[in-house]
Amino acid sequence: ASDVYKRQPTDYWVFRQRKRLLIVDILRDFRFDAEEIFSYGREFRSLISAPISSRGRFLGLIRMDSIQPEEFNVDDLRLLDFIANLSAVAIDNAFLFKKMEELATHDSLTELYLRREFIKLVEEQLSRREEEIFGFLMLDIDDFKNCNDTYGHLAGDLVLKNISRVIKAHLVENEFACRYGGEEFLVFIKGGNKQQLVDRAELIRKAIQGSSIRVRRQLINITVSVGMAVYPDDVQEVAQLLELADSRLYKAKTLGKNRLVYE
Ligand code: GH3
Ligand code: MG
Ligand code: MG
Repeated sequence: ASDVYKRQPTDYWVFRQRKRLLIVDILRDFRFDAEEIFSYGREFRSLISAPISSRGRFLGLIRMDSIQPEEFNVDDLRLLDFIANLSAVAIDNAFLFKKMEELATHDSLTELYLRREFIKLVEEQLSRREEEIFGFLMLDIDDFKNCNDTYGHLAGDLVLKNISRVIKAHLVENEFACRYGGEEFLVFIKGGNKQQLVDRAELIRKAIQGSSIRVRRQLINITVSVGMAVYPDDVQEVAQLLELADSRLYKAKTLGKNRLVYE
């Protein structure tokens, strides 16, 4: 964004100096070349401008100008600076609010939803009461402890990030994924019938299997086991669906891992 201020010379001055600027008459101001400034499309004689910055970070600036010389004085500049400071606080608060909201609803490592937000979003979807078929996938990384032990915890974190990326890439609008536990993921998908959901679940599982990541020139291959429960084929209640998906995940593990169980 700072590129914007690198064009017009008075904006650039404010951006560089991080100071407020008063031009009483541009034609008599030795700091600036009036011709050059006018080439930016806006002609004026006097100007006040103040940076909007917060904790040393430049967020923007406010500028007022007039075709009359001597339109502004030091008091006007002080007022503009005051407004700029208020703006900085408001912008800061908006950023902070966004950040807090993000932290309250998303897992910071994988950027997937946290469990509570996920359930909230799913319930919003289901309250629409459209006749729909949907499924919950419960995924758990196979032998993840081994992965951590072999390649280190940081590599393990990269694996978690990568799996999250792959899962997200397979979702469409109004489908969600959350980090359900340390290395467990819960996914909500919709479809026309159970078979479609089974196919999509297999697609996700295979995509994870096929997405090896490279750490210190070593290829790490990761697989997941998946349990799936489908509404309305299996059970009707969300809590029961989650339970069923979980027990099917357990079954997938006992059957030898790296597979999807949906029955
Ligand atoms: P299984 O195939 O039966 O699921 O075996 P597993 O090793 O994946 O299961 P286990 O429950 O024994 O181990 C889970 C491991 O997941 C242990 C824990 O250190 C790791 N883990 C959980 N959360 C994180 C995390 O945020 N980062 C990393 N790197 N590892 C994590
Ligand atoms: Mg586990
Ligand atoms: Mg595991």
